[in-house]
Amino acid sequence: MKRRPSKRFVAAYLREIGIDFIPAAPPGAVPAERPATGESADETLDDIRRELGACRGCALCGGRRTIVFGVGNPKARLMFVGEGPGEEEDRQGEPFVGAAGRRLNQWIGPIGLSRGDVYIANIVKCRPPGNRAPLPAEAQACLPYLKRQIRAIGPEVICTLGSVALTYLLDTADKITRARGKWRSFGGIPVLPTYHPAYILRNAGRESEVFADFDEIARRLGPG
Ligand code: URA
Repeated sequence: MKRRPSKRFVAAYLREIGIDFIPAAPPGAVPAERPATGESADETLDDIRRELGACRGCALCGGRRTIVFGVGNPKARLMFVGEGPGEEEDRQGEPFVGAAGRRLNQWIGPIGLSRGDVYIANIVKCRPPGNRAPLPAEAQACLPYLKRQIRAIGPEVICTLGSVALTYLLDTADKITRARGKWRSFGGIPVLPTYHPAYILRNAGRESEVFADFDEIARRLGPG
């Protein structure tokens, strides 16, 4: 593995080429490319949460009460990815605790798991105003943290909930109505897209498709 040069070495080098002062970043500034810097292959969810701190990586930070990082078993075999916190989630600091969350819980139980067995996170960790969908720049700013959560957990199966999670996690323009129920892959991890529980609350006639998707997830996980 390539070693990073020491701070002292870098300082000496900069002095040698005539640079002896580097202005500090203004408060709240984040690197443009990748806001998350402490990434390592064996980092834990706590490491990631600590680094996220009071993130100001996109405009959503201005309207949030709290960061909604994720909840559940840090070694879950099954991970869910939703869109972003709603009002109740923003209040409680936990994903899927409102009406959509109660519906999600009702889908998890019948496949022999509880909420505490799985891990639940979102594409963005701060509530978009008025519960609108996250803007592409907001999703892209937050995505590195979600990807690191996935790596730390190492789930056997990921289930994306709704079109926003499908679009950004899998980087696709495919429509959820066509994509649901068909296996995809995220870095070698099988991903099954299904509908968002909030959509099902408004379109109960489509819930049988979600039941079929959860049966498929249970089949893929096997007895464990
Ligand atoms: N909807 C989401 O996508 N995520 C939540 O955490 C709550 C509602």
